[in-house]
Parts: sequence; structure tokens; C-alpha cells
Amino acid sequence: MKNNSEKSPPNIKEDIGKYLTQTKELFGDELYINKQQVIEQSNSNIVDFSNSLENFNYEIRDCQKCLLGENRNKFVFGVGDPNANLLLVGEAPGAEEDKLGEPFVGRAGKLLDKILAAIGRSRSKDVFICNVLKCRPPGNRDPLPSEVEQCEPYLKHQIYLIKPKLIVALGRVAGKTLLKMDTPLKAMRGILHDYFGTPLIVTYHPAALLRNSSFKPNTWEDFKWIRDILKGDN
Ligand code: URA
Repeated sequence: MKNNSEKSPPNIKEDIGKYLTQTKELFGDELYINKQQVIEQSNSNIVDFSNSLENFNYEIRDCQKCLLGENRNKFVFGVGDPNANLLLVGEAPGAEEDKLGEPFVGRAGKLLDKILAAIGRSRSKDVFICNVLKCRPPGNRDPLPSEVEQCEPYLKHQIYLIKPKLIVALGRVAGKTLLKMDTPLKAMRGILHDYFGTPLIVTYHPAALLRNSSFKPNTWEDFKWIRDILKGDN
């Protein structure tokens, strides 16, 4: 007699054959596809990636798809609650993040932590934080289009796994990457965008607030709006 751990492996070919025979009996030659599943799979881009966030990190952390992999100290996957309602997406790791392997740990990150605290959240409380690029561009230059192209499927799969209620793009680079809109940040701000069915807001990057404090009142308005959108979702 077999115990549970000795179950025979699933015979996928046989299962598909059975499914198609049943479908033909019910619907003739029409083939019905679960549209929601197709949308989810196309959002995740690469269907073969791991289906837990932790395993996904292990799977991609040695990535060498672009030259940034050669010079990084640490791959910066992201940090926070894997079931967070709020996903924050920045641009790319800086020097501190590259050293520690965690996003937003430098000065801009400290400011982000304060902003999150002001809306009753933290990086471990119903928030996940990551970047468009997982490795640091030299001298903190803007990501190259080729780097974004290589790295974006990772971000898409993170979004697919986390299934946040709201995505917040921090700064123009994150907004432009997610929305495929090459416009100034001002034109992207203040709009509830749609990212394949998930609401998305674009606000100032915390580093921009450190450079120009006149952006702070608008940022605070954005975060109050974020708090209101997520009200009742905790
Ligand atoms: N800026 C970013 O966009 N991301 C970080 O992780 C740190 C600084």
C-alpha cells in the first residue's frame, strides 16, 4: 500500500487529454478559456517563475542578465509583507541599498519610513517595497532602457505574487516604467491609474523631497489619499 508521500506524479498529458475530451462532449468544437487566468498569467509574464515570494528571490538573486549583475554587492529583491495591500516601487538601489541588500535604507529611505509612519504603516506592516531595477546602476545614473527591459519581468512577477490593492510608483522612472508613459511626473500625479486591474498612483520620489522640500505638501496630500484608498483593507 502507498502512503501519501509516495503518491504517483501527476500525468499532465493524460489530464489535458481528459479535460479536452470532457470539454468536447460539453461544448463541441468551441474551446473556452478562463480569461482571468490568462490575464493573470500575461501580467506575470513568465509563468514558470516560483509561486512564493521567498522562492522567487532565491530563484533570481544570482541574475546576470545585464551588466549591473557583474558589479553589484547585493541583489536588492525587496522588503516587507508578502501579502501587503500597499506596494511601493522605487527606481533602483543606491550605494547603501547595494551594501545592505535592502531597498530605501539611505537618507531617502529614512524619510520614506517617516511618511509611512504618518499613515500608520511601516515597511513590515502591510507594505512591500521594491524597485524597478534590482541592482545598482553605477554612480546612481538613471536605468538604461535595456536594463529596465531585462529587469521588469521580475517586478511584474512580484506584483502578480503580492497582489496589492494599490501600487504607488515613487518618482518618474517608476511611473514611466509601469505606465509606459514618457511624461513629466506632474502629468502622472493626481490620477488613479490602472495597472492591469490594480489601481496605481504616482508620487514624488523621497530623494526629490530631500532636494526640494516644496514638494512635501503635495506628497503629503498623495499619502493621505493612499491612506483613504486603503482604509478598511487592513
Ligand atoms: N532610491 C530608490 O529608488 N530605491 C532605493 O532603494 C533607494 C533609493
